Amino acid sequence: MLIPFSTIIGQQWAINFLTSSFNKDKLGHAYLLKGPSGVGKKMVAHAFAALINCAHPQDIEVCGHCPSCKKFASGNHPDLLVIEPEGAGIKIKQIRALQQQLTFPPFEAKSRLVLLADIHETMRRPEVANALLKTLEEPPKHTLLILSGNESGTILPTILSRCQIIPLIPLPLAEVSRMLMNDDAELAEKQAMTYAAISEGSLGRARTLQKKNLLPLRRTIIEQLTILPEDCTETVQQVFPMAAEAAALKENLDDFLNLLTTWLRDVLVLRSGAGSHPISHDLGDLLEQGSRCWSQHALQNKLHSLDQARRQLARHCNRTLVLEVLFFALLAEKC
Ligand SMILES: [Zn+2]
Repeated sequence: MLIPFSTIIGQQWAINFLTSSFNKDKLGHAYLLKGPSGVGKKMVAHAFAALINCAHPQDIEVCGHCPSCKKFASGNHPDLLVIEPEGAGIKIKQIRALQQQLTFPPFEAKSRLVLLADIHETMRRPEVANALLKTLEEPPKHTLLILSGNESGTILPTILSRCQIIPLIPLPLAEVSRMLMNDDAELAEKQAMTYAAISEGSLGRARTLQKKNLLPLRRTIIEQLTILPEDCTETVQQVFPMAAEAAALKENLDDFLNLLTTWLRDVLVLRSGAGSHPISHDLGDLLEQGSRCWSQHALQNKLHSLDQARRQLARHCNRTLVLEVLFFALLAEKC
């Protein structure tokens, strides 16, 4: 794909930094685009790679017509190597194959570009991280590496020290909301703002949330957890279908649990009086009610229960059972 910088929303600092290094002919050998998921790291990497090899760049933009631009557009540039995680992260065989390719000079371009995505996922495997480090320590000539990684991931300091770090920041919520409404003309502004707020300025995450349509179930379950009295037969009878419904989310369950974490954090912040702009602003009165219903200690216990449920799900424990236990824990300790 050929991505002009002008089509990227936000990230002006990163774009200015990269394009001015290019214009001054002061390119580093490795960059790390670091920031939350869904803010445009891969787009910035692709745009920069295309600019570097464009035959007739116009200031900070690709020409769109030269052979290099055409090959970028067709996704078929022989000197653009894109390495994405296979499964849970980049595999050692991918890094070895890359190192083999890097022993040869670029096919036709002045620079060969290597894009390595989601490297924070790779850091859990020391053998992969060390192999990558070796490539960064001895960068082949005419090769530029552009790594991207999630801010919350733990990227090895040895890797960080060998890259120029380019921070990417969350986008303004109004901008994310506008983009969502551009994608879907039927999306109401209030709804778009809710997605933007919950995704905390990550357009990618907001789009995923909208596609997965998890907000109606989130409201239903949060309503029940807040309103239902603790310890009564009716409540017990409601928890089982609630758990079954959430369990049916399968691969979307993790996103759903993240929504519950955001809700509980908002209630906790409201209760402590530390802030008046909750992320889950669409929940309105339910946040107030939650803050009256549970003590600070109870809310912290609930966040702990959510973490525990996540760990159990990662160990493939029975999904419905984990959620039943979780929902009883989220109901508990009402004042
Ligand atoms: Zn061009």
